[in-house]
Amino acid sequence: MNCDNPNCDDFDRTHLWHPYTSLIDPLPTYKVKSAKGARITLADGTELVEGMSSWWCALHGYRNPVLDAAIKEQVDKMSHVMFGGLTHDPAIELGKLLLRITPPSLTRIFYADSGSVAVEVAMKMAVQFQAARGCPKRTNFVTIRSGYHGDTWNAMSVCDPVTGMHSLFGAFLPVRHFVPAPASRFGGQWDADDITPLRETLERHSDEIAALILEPIVQGAGGMRFYHPQYLRETAELCRQHDVLLIFDEIATGFGRTGKLFAWEHAGVEPDIMCVGKALTGGYMTLSAVLASDKVAMTISAVPPHSFMHGPTFMANPLACAVARASTGLLLSSPWESRVKSIEAQLKRELEPARALPQVADVRVLGAIGVVETKQPVDMTVMQRRLVEEGVWLRPFGRLVYTMPPYIISPEDLTTLTTALVKVVGEMPV
Ligand code: PMP
Repeated sequence: MNCDNPNCDDFDRTHLWHPYTSLIDPLPTYKVKSAKGARITLADGTELVEGMSSWWCALHGYRNPVLDAAIKEQVDKMSHVMFGGLTHDPAIELGKLLLRITPPSLTRIFYADSGSVAVEVAMKMAVQFQAARGCPKRTNFVTIRSGYHGDTWNAMSVCDPVTGMHSLFGAFLPVRHFVPAPASRFGGQWDADDITPLRETLERHSDEIAALILEPIVQGAGGMRFYHPQYLRETAELCRQHDVLLIFDEIATGFGRTGKLFAWEHAGVEPDIMCVGKALTGGYMTLSAVLASDKVAMTISAVPPHSFMHGPTFMANPLACAVARASTGLLLSSPWESRVKSIEAQLKRELEPARALPQVADVRVLGAIGVVETKQPVDMTVMQRRLVEEGVWLRPFGRLVYTMPPYIISPEDLTTLTTALVKVVGEMPV
């Protein structure tokens, strides 16, 4: 896209860094004028059907009146106060709501700024917990391949070393224990061999391992894989046997995306620590939360320094907490479950024809997530332009062309998305 195009901005193209693109020869960046419901309007008036929920966040779509009102109401009271020594209703009310919908064994909440920071917090918590219970050598982590946990240093260290987008830093990151991701697919047969590598790793190394971290059921940015719930059950049992904490990163899977409110429910397995983010605020603001069990929190607090050593400036930002509370309340009072079920059924139906394409390696759908895996990596410049020409907003990466639409999307808009997706994949060179 050259900059004569009204959707391209010269200043932006010259000075603003966008994720995962070159400043010398950048991928096209489209200027957005506004967004409403499941539609994004570009600078030239072009309307796109939103298939990404802005990276899994905007589950109610854009400019939801309830969420808009929550932010405006909070602005009139205060936008921010520090959380050290002060507290406020938005943090308290959001906390009450989160405890109602997350695993019952999680009782303590630490608010953080973003998904990556939540992962840092969870990892620090695990190390501090192990030190507090007299195991200071347990400072390392085990995780599964194809995972993705964010862009900060420790979060990068537990991302898949190859597909996790951080291979450049590999040699300088702390070295973690990686075991193969489970091969047993969600909805398929459970293969008992899947758990063997984790069992062996824990048998050999548990005396240096603080925690195991993984994304339950759906591995997102590291491969868009859906795996068998039995893996989580066996993992939890092994962690218990070896005194290794279990951390669930539900940043991408939370708030109904997989068909359950949170993905742990597919397996009925409760972690010791859980991270939530992304859709927590309905995509309005950046906020995350780390939930911990009594055991974790009390052990940390029982010994000097008697506090968890983390305290971000914008912790529990009132605007973010207010909109998160409104978004979560709105979700719970909406027919989200039937909406996600019907999106799932429609995605299954309408993405199925892609399976017959010579370009396609796999098609999979779970909840409001539809994935078409191609045999060759997509050419982003070509594919992004073609998708926009077809009137949809999708952002493929690697060999993954996928959609996670807002739950309020109409069946007609969803058909526009799936039709464009299948058509454009079918145009790829074979
Ligand atoms: N964990 C998971 C599972 C994620 O998908 C992401 C973001 N893609 C993160 C952590 C990091 O979140 P953030 O981008 O908000 O830092």
